[in-house]
Amino acid sequence: MKEIVILGAGYGGLKALHYLQKVKEDIHVTLIDKNDYHCEIISLAEVASGSIPKEKIIFPIKEIVKEKRTTFIQAEVTEIDSKKKVIHFNNHEDICYDYVIVSLGFHSESFDMPGVEENTLPMDSIDTALTIYQHIRNEMEAYKSDHDKKHLKIIVCGAGFTGVELLGSLKDMENQYAKWAGVSSEDIELICINRSNNFLPMFKPEMANYGLSWMKKWGIKFYFQSQIQKISENQVHYTNAEGKECTMEAGTIIWTTGVSGSDVIEASGYEQHRGRVRVNADMSAPEDEYVYIVGDVAAFFPEGEKHPYPTTAQIALQMGHCAAENIIHHLKGEKTKPFVYHNRGTVASIGNTKSFGVGMGIPVKGYIGSVTKKMIDNLSLFETGGVKELMAKGKFDLYH
Ligand code: FAD
Repeated sequence: MKEIVILGAGYGGLKALHYLQKVKEDIHVTLIDKNDYHCEIISLAEVASGSIPKEKIIFPIKEIVKEKRTTFIQAEVTEIDSKKKVIHFNNHEDICYDYVIVSLGFHSESFDMPGVEENTLPMDSIDTALTIYQHIRNEMEAYKSDHDKKHLKIIVCGAGFTGVELLGSLKDMENQYAKWAGVSSEDIELICINRSNNFLPMFKPEMANYGLSWMKKWGIKFYFQSQIQKISENQVHYTNAEGKECTMEAGTIIWTTGVSGSDVIEASGYEQHRGRVRVNADMSAPEDEYVYIVGDVAAFFPEGEKHPYPTTAQIALQMGHCAAENIIHHLKGEKTKPFVYHNRGTVASIGNTKSFGVGMGIPVKGYIGSVTKKMIDNLSLFETGGVKELMAKGKFDLYH
């Protein structure tokens, strides 16, 4: 019986698991994650803002594990020794594999910016999202006692997908924040500082402008072409569009400027860039037909392209499926198949009732955009958790 180990029960890992739990081949699967739950990361901003509870976006991994075929182990991976085909952990004995699917995801990246680690809040896990929520609440309550306006200010560093969705979600919760602080909602300041002029460059300008103009109408302040130099306690130091050195004070500073792949990749000696390995066309690791690397730790370059695919849940799901299929092909002595990405579209939400982007090739915005975004999120939940989790935790509040 062949032993297939899946590292990470995120999007890529769980999609691979579902496939491997269905095939007829004589295999055993060991699924490993540092947590005992799966997290729908794509809805993390809503937990950080407090618009939904954490229970809405997590489910226990054991609920989708078929014990006849799969063993789930909660443990933290430290290194993959691909020469010896062994996985090392910091809290578990070594595990050997015949094949391994590496799907260890990402972490927030500070880009060595001084002061980021100490003075900003990252948003890359349930724990960090809950820390943001609690921090905002504490700041609002602090205002009540000292009336220092910095407590009412929230700065989001970075206007990428994550930062923009977070700002939309924070806007949804503004009234609640105002109640905690004992002020009117106009007194809460939501600010975004971004290095370039680019606002969601993955969208056509008219779509991006639609999102931006709504957010500006809601009073969210954008500082574009503002290069952050360092962060100190409650202060962002940046150079503005005119080249002037500026400092902005805020009680809450959230860092959403980018992510890197898991540190396990570098620790395992792979040639990598920011925790991502340039994979072969069939998702296998360079010169290793027994290791498959998927999701945010994989850099897949489409033929003839200079840039890899972006890191998205949608791509991680499809890569996980491809890797699992190819392992079965390989162990049957068949030729593996190249990864082909089917783009179902990208929709960004700015709060619960407005979204914009492209769904199934059709431009969507406003209410239709919002329904499309919820359907995309539901599809993702279905692909990781199946019907049971979808029915329990899906987004069905479509009449708003
Ligand atoms: P993950 O889903 O991150 O899973 C990694 C798993 O590995 C986790 O379960 C983790 O616990 C586990 N793990 C990590 N390290 C270890 C270790 N050392 N040992 C054991 N287990 C470990 N993408 C979209 O397509 N649409 C969106 O709307 C969208 N919104 C996003 C919003 C936010 C706030 C963020 C941060 C990302 C968003 N993304 C979105 C990107 C998307 O979430 C990622 O691309 C996706 O999560 C990558 O999937 P993955 O399987 O590679 O990793």
